[in-house]
Amino acid sequence: MAIDDAGETLAQVGEFAVIERLVAGRRQPDAVALGPGDDAAVLHARDGRTVVSTDMLVAGRHFRLDWSTPHDVGRKAIAQNAADIEAVGARATAFVVAFGAPADTPAAQALALADGMWQEAESMGAGIAGGDLVSAPQWVISVTAFGDLDGREPVRRSGARPGDIVALAGDVGRSAAGYELWRNGIERFDELRGRHVAPQPPYGQGRVAADGGATAMTDVSDGLVADLGHIAEASGVGVDLSAAAFSDDRDDLAGAAEYVGADPWAWIFGGGEDHALVATFPEVPPAGWKVIGRVLDGAARVSVDGAVWQGNPGWQSFD
Ligand SMILES: [Mg+2]
Repeated sequence: MAIDDAGETLAQVGEFAVIERLVAGRRQPDAVALGPGDDAAVLHARDGRTVVSTDMLVAGRHFRLDWSTPHDVGRKAIAQNAADIEAVGARATAFVVAFGAPADTPAAQALALADGMWQEAESMGAGIAGGDLVSAPQWVISVTAFGDLDGREPVRRSGARPGDIVALAGDVGRSAAGYELWRNGIERFDELRGRHVAPQPPYGQGRVAADGGATAMTDVSDGLVADLGHIAEASGVGVDLSAAAFSDDRDDLAGAAEYVGADPWAWIFGGGEDHALVATFPEVPPAGWKVIGRVLDGAARVSVDGAVWQGNPGWQSFD
C-alpha cells in the first residue's frame, strides 16, 4: 500500500456511498437468503444449527499496512475466521464484517479490502452477507463467521484419547518465517512472505476430518505446540510429536531460516497464523492428513520426540 494513494477518501465519498461500492456486483452464495441492503441479513441454516465464530484484527497488532496490501488484509481476516469454522468440522457459509478506519483512508483501499474478503470467501463457496463501516483512529476489522455442520457433530478439543494418532492438514511455520523476513526487510522468499500476509488454510479438511472420525481438532493460530496444548488440556491427555514428520517443512524453511539466523524448528513448532488444522484420530487419518504424533496417557502436556518443547511457546494475545 502506498500511503499517498490518490483518490477520494472515505470521508469524501461518505459511508453510504462507500458501502454501495463495497456491495455492488457481488454474487451471494445460496446460503445467504437476504444479503446487504436491509437492517439485517438472513442466512439459510440447512443443518438447523448455526456454527458461529468471531475474530478481530487490529492494525499494528495483527497486520501492518506497510507489509500487507488491503487485499491481503481482507483475505487474512476471512481466512482466520473460516479456519475456526473448519476446526469444528463445519463449512463456512457467510461472514459479516465490521470495518473501522480513519476518515482520510482512500475509498479505493476499502474496496480492495472487500475484494480480498470476497476472493477468500468465494474460494470456500461463502459470501459476505453484511457489515458496518465506522470511523476509527486505526484500521480495525471484526469478522463474524457463520457455518453449517451439514448433520455432523461438532469436533471439539476435548475428545482426544490415549492411543489416538495426531495428524495435520495444511502447513506450519510459513507465516512465522514470512514474519521474520518482513521484519528483517528481506525482499526474497516471496512465497513465505506471502503466506504471512495471507495464510492458506486447508479449506474442506475440517469436514474430511469429522467424517474420518476425528476425536478432537483445532486450527493452528497460536503455534502447533501451543494449540495442541489446548487439546491436551481440554482432553486431559499428553501429546508427543515426531520431529521427523516435519523434515520436509524443515527443508522448505531452511534457506529462509539461515538468511535471518533463525531456527526453522521454532517456526514449525512455535509459529502461528498458518491456520493449518490439527486433529486426533483413533485410526489412520483420512487422505490429506499427515501423521505427526501420538496421544499419550497422563498429565496434559505437549512434547517433541519425548522432550518438552523449549522453544517459543506461541502467540499470546496480551503480551
Ligand atoms: Mg481457532
